[in-house]
Amino acid sequence: MSDTRFDVAGVSVSPDHYIDGRRVASSETFECVSPIDQTHLGDIASGNLGHVDAAVTSASLAFPAWAALSAAQRQPYLQRFADAIGRRADVFATLESADAGVLRSRMAHGVVPRAMQNITWFAEHALTLQDRVIETPQARHLVRHDPAGVVAIITPWNSPLMLATWKIGPALASGNTVVLKAPEWAPLTSSLLADCAHEAGLPPGVFNLLQGSGPQTGAALVSDARLARISFTGSVATAKWIAKTAADNLVPCSLELGGKSAFIVLADADLDAAAATAALMYRNAGQVCLAGTRLLVHADVAPVFIEKLREVVGRLVVGDPRDAATEVGPIIHMRQLERVQGFVERAVAGGARLLWGGTRHDFGAQYFAPTLLTDLRQHDEIVQQEVFGPVLTLQTFASDDEVVGMANGTDYGLGGVCYGDEAHAIAIAERVRTGFIWINSFGIRDLAAPFGGIKRSGVGREGGDWSFEFFCDVKDVVVPKQPFKASFSHR
Ligand code: NAD
Repeated sequence: MSDTRFDVAGVSVSPDHYIDGRRVASSETFECVSPIDQTHLGDIASGNLGHVDAAVTSASLAFPAWAALSAAQRQPYLQRFADAIGRRADVFATLESADAGVLRSRMAHGVVPRAMQNITWFAEHALTLQDRVIETPQARHLVRHDPAGVVAIITPWNSPLMLATWKIGPALASGNTVVLKAPEWAPLTSSLLADCAHEAGLPPGVFNLLQGSGPQTGAALVSDARLARISFTGSVATAKWIAKTAADNLVPCSLELGGKSAFIVLADADLDAAAATAALMYRNAGQVCLAGTRLLVHADVAPVFIEKLREVVGRLVVGDPRDAATEVGPIIHMRQLERVQGFVERAVAGGARLLWGGTRHDFGAQYFAPTLLTDLRQHDEIVQQEVFGPVLTLQTFASDDEVVGMANGTDYGLGGVCYGDEAHAIAIAERVRTGFIWINSFGIRDLAAPFGGIKRSGVGREGGDWSFEFFCDVKDVVVPKQPFKASFSHR
């Protein structure tokens, strides 16, 4: 592949798109800057209408042959794709850390292995997709999951490798071709994924990558009438625009959006365990959609819980995400940091009390101190809006009804956490309106399980069979059991 690669911490990375099996440069570029220390990492190609057209055309032309392969025939390609990711585990860790500020230690032990599984698990699971048979007295229904066509995948910056592979895996495994639009604040690991696809020998056009901004490249992609599906992860505002645009072409969308999830601590909870888990909400500097950022704590145990949490948070290491000891890294972009700071300042001005943090962290310009605010009302902005930074709120409650009302009292409905006696916690969970909720735990994600949100947290589910339901067209081939006699009176 000939392209104008540049070097980031010893890793060679292409700034270009990947279209029809080769790198494609662009005369227009944008800057990629590290959140760690604002170092300029490189100039990245910015996709225009021509690039989008070329990528969708290539994916459309590649579709019939890729779709015609059986799942078993596609599996070796996908295994090689995953292997290519695995061989670059260290390189992915270096790049995503430099580019998105993700903890290097988490990349090596969590994200890269998961990215591989996102490809291999769905490749294997697709083997089970062949004709499901429904027998009735009059007919045999051969229910097929046919690949839908060209799939646009649009991902955010907070976990680019994990979120891209989570969609690419099932989309390709079920026979679709893909155009991935990488996030402009963290474009580098998506570029590496194109290297992996190339090394795996995926036929030209089966996987394409576009770099560029949302309003330019993303918007042009979403507007293309040839798309069969759009799988989007990102903000509510962008999702609304995508859904409206997709509606013009009647393209189904899967929308995985923001969250403002409750972290409930019942009076019968193990407070040490709850506090240790609550501190995890500061991971990735709080830039995690599924974090339980609203701590709802029973009034009887709140003072003890707060002191336990204070102790754990006091030990958190804020710093360079490349250091093994670091637990809280930088905020992705100065604009995002200012947004986080604005939320905190407005909350305090409105009467909230800071229990800790509240300011930039002295480690560096783009670091924010883990923060906890209390003395809040349900309608306060900081309780209602997603901050996407290391900022938690704490409210107390006195009864089950009250905590359920508070948990359900925002426009979001992505996830949740409930600590308490297991049966009690499950009873509460059943009443919380959300896409998923963890009992006495956090972050357990099995590929076979559904993932997604309700209300403003999203539309649709991905994961396991739900991914295939989205990426496939279901077709019923109806074979009668008795000779069919055509008749106008036949029902
Ligand atoms: P964003 O919506 O600004 O951007 C997401 C992606 O959409 C980017 O690639 C961007 O370039 C693209 N985009 C922007 N405008 C577009 C347009 N008009 N047309 C097409 N594409 C466009 O979101 P972000 O700030 O990158 O990500 C943070 C958000 O993502 C948060 O709200 C977070 O909660 C959410 N998120 C959700 C999940 C989930 O699974 N539910 C996971 C991670 C992040």
